Amino acid sequence: MPELPEVETVARGLNEFLQGEVVRSVEVLRVDSVGYPEVSQFKKLLRGHSFGSARRRGKYIVVSLSENASLVVHLRMSGRLVLKEKSVTAKQLALLEKTNFVRIRMVLESGRELHYEDMRVFGRIWYVPAGTAVEKIVTGIASLGVEPLTDLTVDYLVEAFRGKNQPIKNTLLDQTIIAGIGNIYADESLFLAGINPLQPAGKLKREQISVLRDKIISVLTRSIELGGTTLRDYQNLTGVNGDYQNAAMVYGREAEGCHQCGSSIERLKLAGRSSHFCPRCQPVSNTLRRAHEAAAQALKDARSEPSAKATMKVSLRKSKVGSAKASQGPTGLMNTTSRKKGPTGKMNTAGANEGPTGKMNKRMEGKADTR
Ligand SMILES: [Zn+2]
Repeated sequence: MPELPEVETVARGLNEFLQGEVVRSVEVLRVDSVGYPEVSQFKKLLRGHSFGSARRRGKYIVVSLSENASLVVHLRMSGRLVLKEKSVTAKQLALLEKTNFVRIRMVLESGRELHYEDMRVFGRIWYVPAGTAVEKIVTGIASLGVEPLTDLTVDYLVEAFRGKNQPIKNTLLDQTIIAGIGNIYADESLFLAGINPLQPAGKLKREQISVLRDKIISVLTRSIELGGTTLRDYQNLTGVNGDYQNAAMVYGREAEGCHQCGSSIERLKLAGRSSHFCPRCQPVSNTLRRAHEAAAQALKDARSEPSAKATMKVSLRKSKVGSAKASQGPTGLMNTTSRKKGPTGKMNTAGANEGPTGKMNKRMEGKADTR
């Protein structure tokens, strides 16, 4: 899944390769990939615009278009932009739709083509007309927290973490606090800061927060230098994959030796996502560990029991009314009944703190990622 460094790499690629190109025609092969406006308007309005500069905000790419319009791209799970040097035939396009999941095709005046590919169709592209604020159309942008590379201060984090009983890992994934950090870079910066992902955010000392802040910035900066992380479904604009994965300290290294102490890297589930950590470099109290395991077991039991499943659905619905953030327990896991509160707190819908899409339309809400 593209995170800040990957999205930054794509934005830089757009700046380098797309500026000045003019859209000759637009073809939408999958209606769901267009966020705004409706498809026929999207195609009509985009035609004739030239591309200006691209910038990144969180995991969104905002491309300025001629006449003060904008194009916003959110790649989410598997979206990517691919620049084709030559135009493709209808036959080639039909094949590319099957093999590469092309969802939107823009034919450019130069004869090149910009393809938006998205296997899982979680990503979106919005056209924002002149005179309208980007945040108004793409509401996920309005709720984003600070940009880690430019605006992240220790004071801000101390304030944001205060009183938070949820695990620090979940807090780092919360896009309304820090924009752009996903699973990989949360795991990596926590390792480098020597903080266990289960640690409640509100219990961290100022010195720990200060180290964590520095590690977040250094990990993201290094990854941008390496061109983002190579993942199965990530490819930057020019089709060259990044190389951060090989440099990862803990991410994706379960059962392998820690680069610092040799201990076996462990993995646990938090907020529906895998968390990787070194048990020696990132120690955690037995109490926290046991609470997490108990909560994980309760969740497992609930999933295998149909009646409990129904209860879970009800409480999931309830949590949407209230704030998903407020209802998170220290383990970030879900309890199935409100009676079972205990040290694990209440519940967390998988992916609720993952995307900056909390405020987005219903169509996307149902598709929270659970990887
Ligand atoms: Zn270690």
